[in-house]
Amino acid sequence: MLEVDNIECRYGKINVLHGVSLNVGQGEFVTLIGANGAGKSTTLKAISGLLSPVAGRITFEGEDITKASPRRILEMGIAHCPEGRRVFPYMTVQENLELGCYLRRDWKQMARDLDSVFDRFPVLGERRDQAAGTLSGGEQQMLAIGRALMSRPKLVLFDEPSLGLAPNNVQKTFEYIMEINRQGTTVLMVEQNAYAALEMCDRSFLLESGCVTLEGKGEDMIHNPHIQSAYLGME
Ligand code: ATP
Repeated sequence: MLEVDNIECRYGKINVLHGVSLNVGQGEFVTLIGANGAGKSTTLKAISGLLSPVAGRITFEGEDITKASPRRILEMGIAHCPEGRRVFPYMTVQENLELGCYLRRDWKQMARDLDSVFDRFPVLGERRDQAAGTLSGGEQQMLAIGRALMSRPKLVLFDEPSLGLAPNNVQKTFEYIMEINRQGTTVLMVEQNAYAALEMCDRSFLLESGCVTLEGKGEDMIHNPHIQSAYLGME
């Protein structure tokens, strides 16, 4: 479904991705793990068109999207749930959700999808007219997930969905993402918590200093000695 082939990205003159390749199959749950600054968010930004790779190629369902606009990429079915939530603080909860489907015109289905976000996250329904910036961190995370789903994506890119959440909210968020995947949406998720990321996924890629250094099934990666010592805190 998604093929990232040898991409290089830079900020100004500094190269941060040095030939990253990964792939995600239809219906899969794939995670991207690695230390701070390894280039995980940059990889997601390149896929969703927020950053243009200086080399390499990205294809989605056979179409080259390397230089496509973020709008075109969203239209094709890729939604990005960014790190740090990035909700629009002065807009209401409902307006934030509606922005998630600004390209859609199927009004009736959009209203049903809005209701299903409120069913899933009742607190968002209770606060639908409240400015998003006044929600708690966990509520903003729910809103960011709901907003990404409002475009009815085929593939969702989640960037650190557990960041800053209390442990019970972390679990709830992960369960929800697994459910979204079980219902047929393909997921590519960046996650700092390597253990959780490897336990949940079908396959994972390890990014180190802008390069993919290891890939495999989550269950195999969990038993890899390098992963265990460097990312799982085991000796
Ligand atoms: P983290 O887990 O800390 O979010 P990451 O793996 O997602 O890390 P990136 O955010 O992709 O890492 O950053 C990769 C490198 O690019 C880092 O060295 C970072 O400082 C640098 N970088 C990221 N964004 C910018 C930017 N807008 N301008 C300049 N450098 C940047």
